[in-house]
Amino acid sequence: MKLDVNVLRYLSKDDFRVLTAVEMGMRNVSTSPLYSLSYYPGLFDSSISFLFSYYKVLKNLLKYKLLHHDRSKYDGFRLTYLGYDFLAIKTLVNRGVFTGVGRQIGVGKESDIFEVAQEDGTILAMKLHRLGRTSFRAVKSKRDYLRHRSSFSWLYLSRLAALKEFAFMKALEEHDFPVPKAIDCNRHCVIMSLVQGYPMVQVNQLQNPETIFEKIIGIVVRLAEHGLIHCDFNEFNIMIDDEEKITMIDFPQMVSVSHQNAQMYFDRDIECIFKFFRKRFNMSFQEDRDDETTEVEVDENSRPSFFDITKDANALDRELEASGFTKKEQNDLDKFIEGGMEKNKDSDEDEESDDEEETVESNEEGNLNEMRSLQLQEEVQNSSNGVEAEVEVELDDN
Ligand code: ADP
Ligand code: MG
Repeated sequence: MKLDVNVLRYLSKDDFRVLTAVEMGMRNVSTSPLYSLSYYPGLFDSSISFLFSYYKVLKNLLKYKLLHHDRSKYDGFRLTYLGYDFLAIKTLVNRGVFTGVGRQIGVGKESDIFEVAQEDGTILAMKLHRLGRTSFRAVKSKRDYLRHRSSFSWLYLSRLAALKEFAFMKALEEHDFPVPKAIDCNRHCVIMSLVQGYPMVQVNQLQNPETIFEKIIGIVVRLAEHGLIHCDFNEFNIMIDDEEKITMIDFPQMVSVSHQNAQMYFDRDIECIFKFFRKRFNMSFQEDRDDETTEVEVDENSRPSFFDITKDANALDRELEASGFTKKEQNDLDKFIEGGMEKNKDSDEDEESDDEEETVESNEEGNLNEMRSLQLQEEVQNSSNGVEAEVEVELDDN
C-alpha cells in the first residue's frame, strides 16, 4: 500500500462523496452496506443516470484501492487506509493547512511520514497513523477490546492515536518540552513542524555525550513530574540536530503516572537510554564498574527513582481537554495499546478482525519491529530524493 498523491488528480467530486458516504456508514458497522450508500443525502440525483454513475464511481475507487469490496457478511464496501488518507488530505488542504504533498521522509512501526508544503513554501511533517500494520499488538487485548464494540476498525483506532498524539504534543509544547509544534489534526493524520535532525539511532558520535545523556534523562524525569510517561522513549523517538538539540517525538502510547504499571514503564524508558548510551557512546555508569572497556564515568545517582519524583498526575489535563481528547477516547485507545506495550502475544487467532482487510495486510507485512522500521526508513531516505516530487493538490469544496 503506497500513498500516491497523483491519484488525487483523477478523483472527482462524486468519488469523494462516495468515500465520505462509506466513511459515514462505517461509523456503525465495519462495512458500509451497498444499499446504504444510495441513501446518503446528495450523493447522486435520482435520475436514470443514477445506476450508471454509481457503478462508475465505485469502479474508479476500487481501481485505485481506496475502497475494498467486502462480501463476507453482506455486499458492502470499506475504506482502505489509502481512501482514509485522501479524505484527511482533502480536508486539511481545504482548511488551508497545506497545499502540496511531497516526499516520504519516515516509516514508523505504525505510521508513514511525509513532507507537506504550505503556500508560502514552509515545509511541515504529516504523520499518517497506520495501526494494525505491525502485529506486535497483543491479540488478547484486541479480543477484549472487540468484545465491547460491535464493530471494529483499524481506522477508528488510528484516528484516536492521531488525536491523542496531537493533544499531547500541544500540551507538552505549552509546558516547554522539546517536541514538534502541533499544527492540525484530521482523522488519522497529524500535521506538525518538521524536525531538522535525525533519530538518535543514526548518530554515532556526539560532542558531549554526557550532556546529551543528562538532558534526555532530565526530560523523562520532568515528564513524570508533569504526570506522564512516554513508554517508547528510546533512540528511535529522540531526534537530534547538528547543534545537538534534542526533540522527542511519537506520543500515542504515553500513559499517566497513575497507571498501574507506571513504575515499570518509567524504569523501562530510563533503561533504554542507559543501554543506548552505554553501547553507542561507550559510557560507563557506577552500576557497571566492573566493565573495564568503558571510558566515560557518570555518577551512579544519575539513575532516577520513580518514587523519589514529585508527580502531579493532573498537570496537563486542562491542555489535553482543550485539544479535544476526551477521557472516553483515552480509555478506548488505552485498552488497545496497553496489550501491545506489554508485548503480550499469546495467540495467533483473531477471530473478529481476521476479515478486516487492513489486518490481513498488516499480517502480510509481518513483524515490522523497530530495526525493520529503521531499515525501511533508510530505504525511503535513499530512494525518495526527488522521486515523489511535490504534487499540488487542488481540491474543491468540503
Ligand atoms: P511511529 O509511531 O510509527 O514510530 P514516529 O513518530 O516515531 O512514528 O516517526 C517515524 C519516523 O519519522 C521518525 O523516526 C522520524 O525519522 C520521522 N519523523 C517523525 N516525525 C517527524 C518530524 N516532525 N520531523 C521530521 N521527521 C519526523
Ligand atoms: Mg517511533
